[in-house]
Amino acid sequence: MSAAIIDGKAAAERLRGRVAALVPDFATKAGRQPGLTVVLVGEDPASAVYVRAKGKATEAAGMKSDTIRLPAGTGQDELLDLVRALNADASVDGILVQLPLPAQINENAVIATIDPNKDVDGFHPVNAGRLATGLYGFVPCTPLGCLMLLKEQLGDLAGREAVVIGRSNIVGKPMAQLLLGESCTVTIAHSKTRDLPAVVRRADIVVAAVGRPEMVKADWIKPGAAVIDVGINRIDAGEGKTRLVGDVAFDEVAQVAGAITPVPGGVGPMTIAVLLRNTLVAAHRNAGVPLDKGTI
Ligand code: NAD
Repeated sequence: MSAAIIDGKAAAERLRGRVAALVPDFATKAGRQPGLTVVLVGEDPASAVYVRAKGKATEAAGMKSDTIRLPAGTGQDELLDLVRALNADASVDGILVQLPLPAQINENAVIATIDPNKDVDGFHPVNAGRLATGLYGFVPCTPLGCLMLLKEQLGDLAGREAVVIGRSNIVGKPMAQLLLGESCTVTIAHSKTRDLPAVVRRADIVVAAVGRPEMVKADWIKPGAAVIDVGINRIDAGEGKTRLVGDVAFDEVAQVAGAITPVPGGVGPMTIAVLLRNTLVAAHRNAGVPLDKGTI
C-alpha cells in the first residue's frame, strides 16, 4: 500500500479538543454555555443513532445539549412553530432538524424557517448563498470536515485539479464551493457525467459523495492524488453479517493514491466535530462575543 491513510478519527478528536478548550472562555464572557438543540421527528433507527451521538458529543464538549423528540405523525405546522420558538430562544445557539423527515413534512420549508444564524447544518438557502458568494456563513458539516482533512494533509490547495463526484446540496455542491474558495480548478461530476473515469483521472483531489459501494476504482486515479471518500454504504459481508464501505474501492485505490480516507474512520467522525465547531461559532456570534476563528 502506498497511500498515506488520512486519520479522520484523530483529526476529529483534535478539533473536538480545540472546541472544548474554547467553551469555558465563552461561558465566562457570555454568562451561559453554548447550546445546541436537535429535533428528531419519528423513530428512524439510523437517525436515532446519529442524534444520540450528537447529543453525547455536545455534552462532552461542555455545551448544553437538548434533544426534542416528536412523534412520526407530527404535522408540518407544528414543527414550523417549534422551529420559530427555538429561533426566538436566546439560550439556543444552534438548531438542527435531523433529516430525513416523514413524508408529510416539506424539508425545504423546515430548513428555510430556521434562523440562518442558528443554522449550524449550513443548509439554509441564505447560508448556501453566503458560501457561493464568499461571505461568512455556516458551511455544511461534512464538506467542511473534508476540506479540513485535505488542508491538514496537503497544505495550500491553490491551483490543484479537484473532481467532486456527486452534486447534492448537503455534500457535493458545498464541497465544490469550498474547493473553489481554496482556488482549486473544480469539476462537479454526477450521474449524467460522460466517461466518469476519464474525468476523475484528471484530479489531484477526488471527493466521492455518491452512495455507491466501492464505485471508484484504482485505474480512475491519477498516481499520487488525494482521495476523500464520503460514502457510507452497508454491504452484505456473508454469513448474515454486514460491513461498511465507502464509494471508493479502498484496497486497490490505496495502491495508487497519495493519500486516502478510510471508511469507517475517515470523513464520518469529522461531521460531528464540525457540528460542534459550528455551534461554538454560532454561540459567539449570537452572544456578541468575539472569536478568533483561526483557533478552530
Ligand atoms: P445523494 O443521493 O443526495 O447524492 C448522490 C449524488 O451522486 C447525486 O448528485 C448523483 O448525481 C450522484 N451519482 C449517483 N450515481 C452516480 C454515478 N453512477 N456516477 C456519478 N455520480 C452519481 O447523496 P449525499 O447525501 O450527497 O450522500 C452521498 C454519500 O455520502 C452517501 O453514501 C451518504 O451516506 C454519504 N454521506 C456521508 C456523510 C458522513 O458524515 N460521512 C454525510 C453525508 C452523506
